[in-house]
Amino acid sequence: AVAMQGVNAWFGATHVLRAIDLTVAPAETLVICGPSGSGKSTLIRAVNGLVAHQSGTIRVAGLALDGSAKATDAVRARVGMVFQAFNLFPHLTVLENCTLAPLHVRRLGLKAARELALGHLDRVGLADKADSAPAELSGGQQQRVAIARALCLEPQVMLFDEPTSALDPEMVGEVLDVLTDLAAGGTTLLCVTHEMGFARAVADRVVFMDEGQIVEIAPPEDFFDRPRHPRTQGFLSRIL
Ligand code: ATP
Ligand code: MG
Repeated sequence: AVAMQGVNAWFGATHVLRAIDLTVAPAETLVICGPSGSGKSTLIRAVNGLVAHQSGTIRVAGLALDGSAKATDAVRARVGMVFQAFNLFPHLTVLENCTLAPLHVRRLGLKAARELALGHLDRVGLADKADSAPAELSGGQQQRVAIARALCLEPQVMLFDEPTSALDPEMVGEVLDVLTDLAAGGTTLLCVTHEMGFARAVADRVVFMDEGQIVEIAPPEDFFDRPRHPRTQGFLSRIL
């Protein structure tokens, strides 16, 4: 679903992605962790062209991100992204937030767009909030709407950048439950998170990044119980 080969990216003089090789199989769940500033957000943003790479190749669903607007648009139409801050449009209802992409990107009719959106809202347990304003919902509910909105693209890949780190602790579980459900349902999922319990239970593989590099990538049993690299060991000993 995603293939990165020899990817390098700089912000000015800062080398933020260093020789990244990463392949994500369809239906795979990949959790990305690492210290602050290690390049986790940059990596997943590169996957939908929000961050440009200066060398190497990135292919998403068979399409190469070659820097052209056409390729970038085509990839973005196939990739759903959910950020730490839910970024719902405050002046639109929950349902309207979810029908935007189906109407304007996928060019569905209003009825089809609404049915699709209600289906995904139901999947995250919020069909009954369709006519609410975002401000009427809890943080956890808003983040579940953001997930439903991204799913309305019917994306081939879903990207999450710390989807629970802006939430009050009691709301983290409901969002992780939705992610767990997506992973089990065969969504290809790349998720930056510090929720190591989730990583252990749900990830097919865990990636550890440091200083713009992928230092270690392994199934969770190996990653948590037998980390090979000293930097991974140091990171895990600090956070677990
Ligand atoms: P965090 O855990 O704090 O979210 P991260 O692993 O997601 O960190 P990135 O946000 O990918 O790290 O940042 C990687 C490096 O790139 C850092 O050195 C950061 O300062 C730098 N960086 C990120 N975005 C920009 C930008 N827009 N302009 C310049 N430098 C940037
Ligand atoms: Mg980040």
